[in-house]
Amino acid sequence: MTVNVLFAATEERWSEYRAPLTEAFAEHGLDVNLSTEMPPEEVDYIVYAPNSAVQDFTPYSRCKAVLNLWAGVETIVGNTTLTQPLARMVDPSLTQGMVEWVTGHVLRHHLNIDFFLARQNGKWERHVPPVAAERPVTVLGLGELGTACAKALAGLGFPVTGWSRRAKDVPGLTTRYGAGGLEAALASAEILVLLLPDTPQTVNLIDAGALATLPEGAMIVNPGRGPLIDDDALLAALDRGHVAHATLDVFRVEPLPHEHPFWSHPRVTVTPHIASETRANTASRVIAENVRRGEAGEPFLHLVDRDQGY
Ligand code: NDP
Repeated sequence: MTVNVLFAATEERWSEYRAPLTEAFAEHGLDVNLSTEMPPEEVDYIVYAPNSAVQDFTPYSRCKAVLNLWAGVETIVGNTTLTQPLARMVDPSLTQGMVEWVTGHVLRHHLNIDFFLARQNGKWERHVPPVAAERPVTVLGLGELGTACAKALAGLGFPVTGWSRRAKDVPGLTTRYGAGGLEAALASAEILVLLLPDTPQTVNLIDAGALATLPEGAMIVNPGRGPLIDDDALLAALDRGHVAHATLDVFRVEPLPHEHPFWSHPRVTVTPHIASETRANTASRVIAENVRRGEAGEPFLHLVDRDQGY
């Protein structure tokens, strides 16, 4: 039987995903009618990206699941018209990209690479960086991305603490959880990596109090979401030098407005939400596998917990 899959995302995404999705559905033995337009009552699955025109899911009466192309679901999870199961993206290439980006920025700070880049001036100034074992790193968020990054950093020799909502045991990491575990996780963080989702519980988690708990001269790397950090508190901590540097990939407003003080702050590096991207080839296989599961009556992968918001 033909399965109707509505691709509800921008034109640009359609041109990127059309061929790999078609191929992935065929690989999974699925007979799929994939289109950007079809009568809502005939749609079996929706492949969704946040800036889609579909905002009211009520007419999609026979839709079995909404399959998000992105890992973060904050723009859809609270949609009250969405009664269908919601799956988020867990894509091996997205994870690999995040591991590379986080590791690169942690190493940049750890090795003080900026110091040497700014001193190509003929002066022989020797500042030998510590080895990784002397640089504690904390990763807030031990999900798909946070765990992969934390393990990669631990593999390089950093003592890594990971923090999550629920208790976890991850070999090679010190793990802490919940409100009771946050202070200790922050207190040891010479480099703090944020890989939490944007939920009502995580908004402004990194406020003035949390920043003050970090060791003097700590560095922050945020590829998670902008609202995790209280911007004004961060700017104040940067001005004081308590936080030595912040590398920020995500912001409350994106694109980050031209006049935002982060752009010109000497202790801030802005990157334009490029830490890692869902890759069409691998992500299409994840989507196809979920459609196959839906058709076989098997549980969907990567379902979002609507109550928790991630
Ligand atoms: P997951 O859902 O797999 O993991 C989320 C982690 O956050 C889990 O460990 C979870 O704890 C923890 N968490 C959630 N709420 C709380 C809380 N209130 N207190 C403590 N811990 C909490 O997500 P991913 O790892 O796949 O992705 C993380 C985020 O990365 C995404 O939500 C997105 O915002 C961001 N992202 C950014 C990209 C970029 O290019 N900048 C690209 C892709 C994603 P527990 O394990 O107990 O459930």
